[in-house]
Formats: sequence, C-alpha cells, structure tokens
Amino acid sequence: MQTSTRNTVLLTRSRTAVWHPCTQMKQHETLPIVPIARARGCWLYDCDGNRYLDAVSSWWVNLFGHSEPRINAALIDQLQKLEHVMLAGFTHEPVVELSERLSALTGGKLGHCFYGSDGASATEIALKMSFHYWRNSGKTDKTEFISLAGSYHGETLGALSVTDVALFKDTYALLLRQSVQVPSPDWRQAAGGVSPRDHALACAKALEQHLEKHHARTAALIVEPLVQGAAGMAMHDPEYLRQARVLCDRYGVHLIADEIMTGFGRTGTFFAHEQAGITPDFLCLSKGITGGYLPLSVVMTTDTVYQAFYDDKVTRGFLHSHSYTGNALACRAALATLDIFKQDDVIQNNRARAQRMTVAAQPLAAHPRVRHFRNTGMIWALEVDGADASFSRRLFEAALVREVLLRPIGTTVYFMPPYILSDAEMDLLATRTLEALDATP
Ligand SMILES: *Cc1c(COP(=O)(O)O)cnc(C)c1O
Repeated sequence: MQTSTRNTVLLTRSRTAVWHPCTQMKQHETLPIVPIARARGCWLYDCDGNRYLDAVSSWWVNLFGHSEPRINAALIDQLQKLEHVMLAGFTHEPVVELSERLSALTGGKLGHCFYGSDGASATEIALKMSFHYWRNSGKTDKTEFISLAGSYHGETLGALSVTDVALFKDTYALLLRQSVQVPSPDWRQAAGGVSPRDHALACAKALEQHLEKHHARTAALIVEPLVQGAAGMAMHDPEYLRQARVLCDRYGVHLIADEIMTGFGRTGTFFAHEQAGITPDFLCLSKGITGGYLPLSVVMTTDTVYQAFYDDKVTRGFLHSHSYTGNALACRAALATLDIFKQDDVIQNNRARAQRMTVAAQPLAAHPRVRHFRNTGMIWALEVDGADASFSRRLFEAALVREVLLRPIGTTVYFMPPYILSDAEMDLLATRTLEALDATP
C-alpha cells in the first residue's frame, strides 16, 4: 500500500473536521483513515490508486457492486424528473411502485409501507406502531418489548433500548427504556452435541415461559431472522422463527422482523423469514434496499394493523414523520435494485456463487486457530481462537495492506461481499484473509 501526500492530507483533514461513526477518534493517531476516491464493482480505490476488495459491502449495504450502471442510469433519469417532494399529502410514481412491488414480494400479506431514512428509524417506527396499535385496540397495558440476547436494532434511543450490545448500550443506560432479552438461538452457544434445531427449540421454550407470564404487558418481540449481525454473525435455525410466530399468535404479541441486514437476498432467500415459512406483523427493511446507494428504510405491515389506525380521530393515526420520507431518488434506486434481482436471476445465481465461496474458504475453515466456520446465503463467518482485544484492529490493518477490507467484530471474522463477486475475487478474498490471519498473532 502506497501513501502519498494526497492521501495523507485528506485523512488528516478528515480526522480534524469529520467525527467518524463507531470510532474512538484517538485511535486514528496511529490507525490510518482510508481516503476513497472512487469505487467500481467490488473494489474501492484510494487517492493513489491502491485498491481494496469491499468484503463487507460498505457496512452491509451494497448488493451489486459500486457504480452499478443500471442503478446509475435510473438515478440520472430520476434526477431529470423529481429529486424529492414531501410525502405528507403528496405522492409520486417511484414511491407508489416501490410499495406495490415490495408488498407483492410478501405475497400481499404486508400491504402497507411506511418509510423512514435509515435502519434505526425503521426500528423506531415498528416499535411505535406496535405500541400504538395495542393502544388503539384498548390494550393500553401492552408497553413492553422483547428482543434476543446480543441483538442489534440500531442506536437511536428507542432502537438502542431493544439492542443488546453492551459496548453501544451501557454508557446510555440511564436514557433507555427497559426491555427484556430472551436467550438467543445462536447455535455457537449450543452445548456440545446439541443440534442447532434442538437449541432453537430450547430457546423457544424460554420465550414461551416469558410470554406465559408477561404477555398482557408485552407489545412485541423483535428479532433479526436467521442471522444476528452485530452479535458476530450469530446464525440460528429457522425453527426458532416458526416457534416464535406460533407463540406470538397464541399470546397476542406482535412479531417484528428486523430484516434491515438480512433482507434483499442476503441469507439466500429474498427475505430471511421466508425460510421459516412465516410472515411477521412488521417487517423492517433498509441497507440493501437501494443497492447501497442512498439512505432509505421502510416498515411494512398488515391490513389488520393499518385498519386499527384508520379513523375519524387524528390522534388514532400514525403521526410519525421524517423530512426525507419516501425520497424519490432513493425509491428509484430501490426500483432499479428490484429490477436487477429479476434481470440477473440473483437469488438463483447466488446459490452457485455461495457454494463456490464456501469451497474457496475451506483452507480458512480448516485453520488451526479457526472455530465455528459457518455460512448462511451470502454471509460467511468464523471465530478466531485466542484473539485479544486488539485483534480486530490488527487484522483489519493486515487485511488492508493485502487489498482486502475486513471489519472483524471482536473475534469474529466475516465476509459479506457484494453479490457480483467473481471466482477470482473469491479466491483472492480467501487467500488474502488466510495470509492476514497468519500475520496477526
Ligand atoms: C444496521 C442495522 C440496523 C440499523 O440501521 P442504521 O441504518 O445503521 O440505523 C438495525 N438493525 C439491523 C439488524 C442492522 O443490521
């Protein structure tokens, strides 16, 4: 990796004027900030032309690579027509078409789309809507939320209340509402010999015991279906979701599927919850929705929920809003993204791609320091034994000088690449990660 004055000047200016997210800024006294000048396909290029394979899809948002010609063309076309108009009292073709097409993708079961700008705002919307639904239905005691141990649902105050990541949450404890965490079906935590499915069933039992006692006060259970991302790509058996659906129905509790990361084909089906054959009451989507181009989120819900708000009384309506709700450019990027799923038969083609990547990663899986190598759809993850607190930062640096952008979560190393990764890029990713691991004691 070469560093010129051009690179150095930009990263120094960035350190001064930009407060970077999820970062102790002082660490950047030694750890470089990477100045990206342009990007194409799976590759990011810095100001000196060094390249980095974007193996984390730019924080889990990119689907079809950077600078995708069809998304670019759709955005340029949309720019000539309408960039944005407020969505209260106004509407436009892209938001209507997107809502209709997303609804169709749920078989029409989630036919009402409420938009936000990012994942955390989708979580806020789902929590508020669930609470307000029960209130409108005369069940004013239903004010509590349940989430899974280790879950991540965003970091605004409401979303952080149902998030269970100590590093993000503990500092703000006094600002947050209490919520309840039930055991996670994460199969890494299964005792020796217990299958992922049996572990899921045992965790469902714990959920049942909680609901039996507390259902009258519980508004909703929120889950990340199949893969809990920030928990370290914790994967679980779909049986847990089937059980959760049955229990939520039995006890009159909403099921919120936070598919902000798992949606749009990431787990091998278009939505992760499809693999359990269930439909949630609320579905939160963001990240990949625009192919990784623009901030947009949506909460989709049932006609039953929608009808509980439909009334002559204004305050029975859902009065929530964000300035950029339903932004026309973002919706148009989302439509172009849905087009690509069809044109390129993405879900089908990803199956072969995922198998190919799993084969390429076998030497990593067999590495003596590696445990729990796992894969769901277009996500791969593994645990590194004996890794210390600085491991993730050191591996990040070791991978970066080998042209690969990795961002380990503690001792978990994962790949969440754009879906267009070629065979050569898969091999490079696996080989360079192995080299980086060996260079990071
Ligand atoms: C990223 C993420 C969020 C939060 O989305 P932001 O756009 O970062 O606010 C919520 N839930 C899950 C599962 C996520 O992966």
